[in-house]
Amino acid sequence: MSTQTVKKDTHPFERAQLEALMTKRFFYTQAFEIYGGVAGFYDYGPSGAALQANILSHWRNHFIVEEDMLEVDTTVLTLADVLKTSGHVDKFADWMVKDTKSGEIYRADHMVENVIEARLKGDQEARAAAEGRAVDGPAPAPKTEEKKTKKKAKAAAVKLDDALVEEYKQTLARLDDFNGEQLGELIKKYDIRAPATDNEVTPPVEFNLMFESNIGPTGQVKGYLRPETAQGHFVNFERLLEFNNGRVPFASAQIGKSFRNEISPRAGLLRVREFVMAEIEHFVDPQNKSHPRFKEVAHVVVPLLPRETQESGSTEVVTKSLGDAVSTGMIDNETLGYFIGRIYLFLESIGINTQRLRFRQHMSNEMAHYASDCWDAEIHTSYGWVECVGCADRSAYDLTVHAKKTKRDMTVQEALKEPKVYEKYVPTINKKVLGPQFKKDARVVEEAILACDQERLRAMQGELEAGRTTVSAGGNEFEILPEHCTIELKTIKESIRSYVPNVIEPSFGIGRIFYALLEHSYWAREEDKDRGVLSLPPLVAPFKVLIVPISSNEKLSPIAREVSRRLRSAGITARIDDSSATIGRRYARNDELGTPFACTIDFASVSKGTMTLRERDTTAQRIGSIDEVIDVLKELCAGRLDWAGACERLGEYNGTQDVDQ
Ligand code: AMP
Repeated sequence: MSTQTVKKDTHPFERAQLEALMTKRFFYTQAFEIYGGVAGFYDYGPSGAALQANILSHWRNHFIVEEDMLEVDTTVLTLADVLKTSGHVDKFADWMVKDTKSGEIYRADHMVENVIEARLKGDQEARAAAEGRAVDGPAPAPKTEEKKTKKKAKAAAVKLDDALVEEYKQTLARLDDFNGEQLGELIKKYDIRAPATDNEVTPPVEFNLMFESNIGPTGQVKGYLRPETAQGHFVNFERLLEFNNGRVPFASAQIGKSFRNEISPRAGLLRVREFVMAEIEHFVDPQNKSHPRFKEVAHVVVPLLPRETQESGSTEVVTKSLGDAVSTGMIDNETLGYFIGRIYLFLESIGINTQRLRFRQHMSNEMAHYASDCWDAEIHTSYGWVECVGCADRSAYDLTVHAKKTKRDMTVQEALKEPKVYEKYVPTINKKVLGPQFKKDARVVEEAILACDQERLRAMQGELEAGRTTVSAGGNEFEILPEHCTIELKTIKESIRSYVPNVIEPSFGIGRIFYALLEHSYWAREEDKDRGVLSLPPLVAPFKVLIVPISSNEKLSPIAREVSRRLRSAGITARIDDSSATIGRRYARNDELGTPFACTIDFASVSKGTMTLRERDTTAQRIGSIDEVIDVLKELCAGRLDWAGACERLGEYNGTQDVDQ
């Protein structure tokens, strides 16, 4: 009875109900609501702030503590030069289109996606109507966050040509791969119009997503609110490397706010303009991307959606162990595979339903300008599949561009066990002759000679022996004579290897994970659709224990306060609800908050020192001495005991043990 399974799927999920609960129990709300609100900004209330803090605290343990990462906390307002060098000023943009008459703005890829999905849905309905059956399941929606089309007529049941249906499906699967020009072509080809008005839209134009700002009273120094926390790690790389005694691999980690001026933020917490990110930059040797702890996750089986599958127009996942995925080359390297495994385990531990989780590899055009391979953890919600964690191999891009711009040395120096001995053609420039003779061209000529590869230097050596050679510089060809330069084959002995590390970056959008978790946790009691429950695991639940005195009798409240004190001193957040509401209502209110356990203080607590313990999902109750129940709660909240185990340690409660007044 007490370990009964609970039927959670009696009532289909309704987003409106969850949203109402979020407001009622103050998880989060539209920011500046009393001023009318601004799209893309949310404030978290006590329940949401506690849930987010618990997710972050577990994130810190799971990644930073467990893997000995170097935590940093860098500035939000970022010097424009940094973001210019990183490529964000020029490339961190999305494509937007404008309704030619109303002026309403849409993000181009989202608009194309929404309209095509609506047409496919209409087609399904038309086919179903023709065959006299109900539409089964959702419309094929490989990836969507914003399904709402305001104009219902768009989704009207219209049967499409079979070939067109196939083309639409292929387009949806490949949508992330299209650039602005290609999106413009799709809009023309499929006559895609503004969903709200059916008006034509302008060709897509680029819109940079960064919020710009000026630093200081004269405003001469330009800055941006950071669009990711990553650059803060890179600009401190030399110090981090030194902190780690000059050795790689190592990882730095940071939790903090990022800002993106999204074109049209809809979809609640999923697409916002200010959000918490948790990012890891794992620096590795480009020639050795193995991971010492890979074997710990090699057995973990994950659902993968590789690039080739999507490029062929399909969204079917393959389920593979990470060991297999890396050894067959589907995932590029062990470090990337290791983090995919750690991300999977993290999401599972906070309560994400892994049946609704997949790792999708980026297609070539879709990949960020710096990435060489990338897998997103996508979680399925009522908005479709949502990218919640990006896991990219950023190669040596960031460190290389910052080092070049600032002329700083961002290389790792590795002492070689065996010195490397090899022969090399080395040019020596005779500046005294070259300078006066080539005058203003002397520098480019010198640079051109020094930039020649070994093959060319070998040839030039032969040519110089014969009297003359040539070099091209700045679009001109220059004659080089033996008095300008000599080239010798030298024996080189190297005992240090110097390289710019590559970076593997898992990047978590905490708000998206937070929202997906709420959707996966929400259900309504079988007997009453309006009695919502959030089955959050104790690890992340905002409050772990509810303490309810059964009545307002003055003998009960000192016991409730003492139990609360003892739980809090054990680090367990416990709240007393001594309101006048019925006990059933008080339980129900806490089911909505996701509070996993409730202790009830009754008259037997006074006379016999006992207390009951209620489990949220089953509503089952057990009884024991106050000490025993507190001990069990400590174990339950630490995840060392499950409810079945708790039932073995506490007696069955028959509802009559508290009559003893
Ligand atoms: P990206 O750098 O674009 O790969 O984003 C990294 C992570 O940040 C994504 O996986 C999302 O979880 C999150 N993210 C990106 N943009 C937004 C947004 N506008 N609102 C909320 N989360 C976002």
